Amino acid sequence: MLASHIMEMKGGAGGSRKAGGSGRLRRTADAKLPTRFGNFRAIGYREGRDGDEHLAIVKGDVSAARDVLVRVHSECVTGDALGSRRCDCGEQLRKALRRIEKEGRGILLYLRQEGRGIGLLNKVEAYHMQDQGLDTVAANVILGFEADERSYGAAARILSDLGVESVILLTNNPDKVMQLRELGVAVSGREPLRVRSNPMNAAYLKTKGRKMNHILE
Ligand SMILES: [Zn+2]
Repeated sequence: MLASHIMEMKGGAGGSRKAGGSGRLRRTADAKLPTRFGNFRAIGYREGRDGDEHLAIVKGDVSAARDVLVRVHSECVTGDALGSRRCDCGEQLRKALRRIEKEGRGILLYLRQEGRGIGLLNKVEAYHMQDQGLDTVAANVILGFEADERSYGAAARILSDLGVESVILLTNNPDKVMQLRELGVAVSGREPLRVRSNPMNAAYLKTKGRKMNHILE
């Protein structure tokens, strides 16, 4: 589809305090995306005139569909692209794509909110503090951020644009389910993404479980 269209969409309850909660979201191009996990479509979205760029990686026909498997994934360059063992992002990303491919239908939203929304270089600063013994939540707070600066307003609006009726979220994070529901997404279920811990990310995963209510089965 070449003709871009602009959607005037409401940010929804609680969605405007952080980036991605309000304003315009524009669908840009749509292209085939063959990957080593399977064949997908990549659909581009841009917030505002020169705001964040997001991607919807889509498998199968999701329009007007119910119980669509959806992974809402926030960018993590170190984990996704470099295979960092400080976190479990890369493994969750690959697991989600494999799961969607196996199902034959689903969506992975790749949101450009690096480092839980604090940005790549601030994340490296936080890693530096963690090297000195702080945990991920305490490091973010010292840098002047909330433990989690992510927002899912863009995710909710992209799912609405794709015409999805209801979703089964691939996540270990019940807070993400709650936030998306508050933004008007019909979440009909949650499917955990099991990841193995390694000596390098064990402390991080423990903090996610203890301080951020993630369910790590
Ligand atoms: Zn990560």
